[in-house]
Amino acid sequence: MDAALDAPLDTALDAALDAEVIVVGAGPTGLMLAGELRLAGVEVIVLDRLTEPTTESRGLGFTPRTMEVFAQRGLVDRFDALGAPLETTTRGHFGGLPLDFGVFPEAHPAVVDLPQVHTETMLRGWVADLGCDPRRGHTVVGLTDTGDAVEVQIDGPDGPLTLRARYLVGCDGGRSTVRELAGFDFPGTPATLELFLADVRGCDIRPRFIGEWLPGGVAMSARIGDGIDRVVVCERDIPPQRRTAPPTFDEVAAGWQRLTGEDISQGEALWVSAFGDATRLATEYRRSRVLLAGDAAHVHLPAGGLGMNTGIQDAFNLGWKLAAVVRGQAPDTLLDTYHDERHAVGSRLLDNTRAQGLLFLGGSAMQPLRDVMGELTEHDVVHRHLAGMVSGLEIRYPMGDGDHPLLGLRMPDLELAMEEGTTTAFPLLRGGRGLVLDLAHDESVRRSARPWADRVDVVTAKPAADAGFPQADAVLVRPDGHVAWAAPGARDDLTDALARWFGPPAVPAN
Ligand SMILES: Cc1cc2nc3c(=O)[nH]c(=O)nc-3n(C[C@H](O)[C@H](O)[C@H](O)COP(=O)(O)OP(=O)(O)OC[C@H]3O[C@@H](n4cnc5c(N)ncnc54)[C@H](O)[C@@H]3O)c2cc1C
Repeated sequence: MDAALDAPLDTALDAALDAEVIVVGAGPTGLMLAGELRLAGVEVIVLDRLTEPTTESRGLGFTPRTMEVFAQRGLVDRFDALGAPLETTTRGHFGGLPLDFGVFPEAHPAVVDLPQVHTETMLRGWVADLGCDPRRGHTVVGLTDTGDAVEVQIDGPDGPLTLRARYLVGCDGGRSTVRELAGFDFPGTPATLELFLADVRGCDIRPRFIGEWLPGGVAMSARIGDGIDRVVVCERDIPPQRRTAPPTFDEVAAGWQRLTGEDISQGEALWVSAFGDATRLATEYRRSRVLLAGDAAHVHLPAGGLGMNTGIQDAFNLGWKLAAVVRGQAPDTLLDTYHDERHAVGSRLLDNTRAQGLLFLGGSAMQPLRDVMGELTEHDVVHRHLAGMVSGLEIRYPMGDGDHPLLGLRMPDLELAMEEGTTTAFPLLRGGRGLVLDLAHDESVRRSARPWADRVDVVTAKPAADAGFPQADAVLVRPDGHVAWAAPGARDDLTDALARWFGPPAVPAN
């Protein structure tokens, strides 16, 4: 095990703590966060009210940026080991308008038709290898921020229980208890329609990857396993019902027949669910020692399949920052950048999925707009704009003044030649540490970074000749893969950028 994972809890306060961080929810967001925290050696407890992992797969596949996130941590091969090989594609869509992620030739592809349970199983295995197993059957029912810690009241399998930690993160889904208990505002609009989903065996349904527009609405279908199809019934003008239980398969099959004329009622339903277009965003992602991530912070129509992706990327943004703060390396204010960066992404996600919902479900009145949008996507700049939006590759965080084209964007996985041989950028980020790439063999760059050697690696390399890399002499990459500083072009010194993102140096510069 990594030395960081053995780091002791060593302050007076720590003796009264059960963990440094408590994560509520072992869905994809909570698991990704737990992995990132464990990678940095943080003591984490993950709580989930379910006694067993869910067998339901709302999401299917993931976007190019999530694929890159997994690649940065060396997690992609784990899917093969699970017997869930990845089917990759550069095909995407915006509200049903086809897109090609190939407009980002340096990016990793998207993954299709992979049930969300496989992603969760992969993450659970990674987190277990890092020494953390979710505590199941633990439902959070209360919390108190005591100023220097958070106390969490839990209904556990052996009765009531209280746990204390420095920070608490609510990754407990769209109906988040943590969000409510901690008093976060969650404004937005309620659901105006009801859509159905069913996983059906034995019907051999024709795949409709980006949906088929029909007079009554949109029908979607995908093959998700041997003889198993997912159908999504998007009938227009079906108002949401107050349900205390999932819809029956008869309701779903009737909707499918009204839309497509196909009878699937003889199929065996493995899972049936209803969902809607409620659209809400927490106004804050952080209130003192309590933070939100994933569906707990944002809910929206699952148009374009972005919810799980955004939750995983929330966790990827938060994990290393929270680790640096609890380890006393960086000031608590670093956590405010989590709100600043990810709330902006959440806000854009809501706009994007609202627009996709209108295009997708808008009916014949929307057809002229779809036609115009279709023409626009033939222009490279528009295609790239929309593909950047739904792939997560466009995200650019504010990183201070400067005009280097990579500043704030994610570092692409470009080929690099080092003395030891050739590599690409992502394996250099596997340990979840910062990275200074010295691309011009500049001793002053290496000297500037040396005082942060306990948390930032320095690698001297040369981009491969045809790397398509925006010319740079040196780059500072954060543990989440975003470029925090690049020369020439950044106005700040490298040391200022290092101090901003990684806290004061452990040893003074000489
Ligand atoms: C039909 C549909 C299709 C979708 N398709 C896609 C897709 O293709 N791609 C995509 O990216 N996203 C998709 N999504 C969205 C995706 O499923 C969610 O965004 C994702 O599951 C959110 O992950 P999460 O970890 O934030 O929350 P969740 O997955 O909801 O996990 C929350 C966890 O918290 C636990 N919990 C809740 N309350 C408590 C409590 N009080 N105490 C303890 N534990 C608690 C729950 O048991 C659960 O395990 C889809 C959604 C729907 C409805």
